[in-house]
Amino acid sequence: MKAHDGMYIGGQWRPAAGPDTIAVVNPADEQVIAHVPAGTAEDVDAAVRAAREAFPAWAATPPAERAARIAALRDVLVARKDEIAETVTAELGAPLALSRTVHAGVPVLVAGSYAELAASYSFEERIGNSTVLLEPVGVVGAITPWNYPLHQVVAKVAPALAAGCTVVLKPAEDTPLTAQLFAEAIHEAGLPAGVFNLVTGLGPVAGQALAAHEGVDLVSFTGSTAVGRQIGATAGAAVKRVALELGGKSANVILPSADLAKAVSVGIANVMSNSGQTCSAWTRMLVHRNQYDEALALAAAAVAKYVPGERVGPLVNAKQQQRVRGYIEKGLAEGARLVAGGPEAPHETGYYVSPTVFADVTWDMTIAQEEIFGPVLSILKYEDEEDALRIANGTVYGLAGAVWAADEAEAVAFARRMDTGQVDINGGRFNPLAPFGGYKQSGVGRELGPHGLSEYLQTKSLQF
Ligand code: NAD
Repeated sequence: MKAHDGMYIGGQWRPAAGPDTIAVVNPADEQVIAHVPAGTAEDVDAAVRAAREAFPAWAATPPAERAARIAALRDVLVARKDEIAETVTAELGAPLALSRTVHAGVPVLVAGSYAELAASYSFEERIGNSTVLLEPVGVVGAITPWNYPLHQVVAKVAPALAAGCTVVLKPAEDTPLTAQLFAEAIHEAGLPAGVFNLVTGLGPVAGQALAAHEGVDLVSFTGSTAVGRQIGATAGAAVKRVALELGGKSANVILPSADLAKAVSVGIANVMSNSGQTCSAWTRMLVHRNQYDEALALAAAAVAKYVPGERVGPLVNAKQQQRVRGYIEKGLAEGARLVAGGPEAPHETGYYVSPTVFADVTWDMTIAQEEIFGPVLSILKYEDEEDALRIANGTVYGLAGAVWAADEAEAVAFARRMDTGQVDINGGRFNPLAPFGGYKQSGVGRELGPHGLSEYLQTKSLQF
């Protein structure tokens, strides 16, 4: 796998300040496939300076021209989609079919949506005797996780560029090769030097330096709640803007009138996709007590199709594999019952975890409260709708969720009472323009569509 041994700063690949490197491992066979430089505070500083220098001209570039550059970026992502899919598969372990459709495909949609929005968005509005100008916030420090290596990057960089901001990206240490490919795409698309900069490196070193840098005006972070809390504190102390997309423990509520077989099979597919490494995955399935046994039988049949090494990839690294197996052991120790899977690794090589389904899970068990980030589903029993609502809302998270009912209005009435940032009604489709983000400890701010764009804007009002 081709890797750059430098940082992309000011429109070119430059040697890193320090000698340290990070080994990139293929989680399917545990082989080292590349090394990338481990950036230091010095690299971050150089990147932030480049972004600051580029900011005035980019902010003053007419939105139609910014839109044209983002459209060119989308076209490069289309032209290089096979290479992107292969790179994601190599460093994340996702099955190639998933890498093609989701990991390479979704960023094209999102970049395309921001090419259109940059051209059509109203960066000025009239309120009474005032004109309100929506101006770019400045230099954005973007810190991303590994679970959707390109989507997480594009969901920050595309709206930031559309708004007129410049960016320094610190991608996850497990998936830096996809980020390097993205930097190449930016270069090929003809973005001016310094508008986008890449520093690979460790979170507590390069990530921390970026979040704390006084030349950064907004920190946009996606990752764990624990790190998000630290970044929020750092940004708060410096009075700088911050957007946090954090963890989740979403509920999939199947109301008694729903098509149970469909709801269970879509629910299983949702959790097993990307080996369960999706922050918005519906990891708690809530079923009425009269339908509970039937739901367990349906779930056992559905999960059997998810064979590790075929439809389900490995987890991203050995630590995550150990962590998820630990949660499965904890579920057993706290009295939950296995319907499928278990803590034993299904293969000797590769960081695989058996697709696992638990029954007899109560709302207060660890596996029903904490984010597991692996192919593990808990099925919980509810007595009535009020009980279902209490369970659904009974975690510190509020990122996503699902409701199933025969009648859409019945599902919507339930969804209105859920403390969560998005709800899929009867298996609703992904919408790249819909705001994505969390209630409660799942985060602050929204990504995607016009709501995502507004995160990168600040307002100035002129009175007449
Ligand atoms: P993580 O928090 O460990 O790392 C995320 C990023 O932060 C990485 O780039 C990492 O290098 C960096 N980082 C780590 N420590 C840092 C520090 N002290 N200062 C600055 N940066 C630091 O998360 P992860 O394990 O990579 O990702 C999994 C988590 O991300 C899960 O909790 C998941 O729910 C969450 N996630 C949330 C969303 C969302 O949109 N809400 C999307 C995907 C993932």
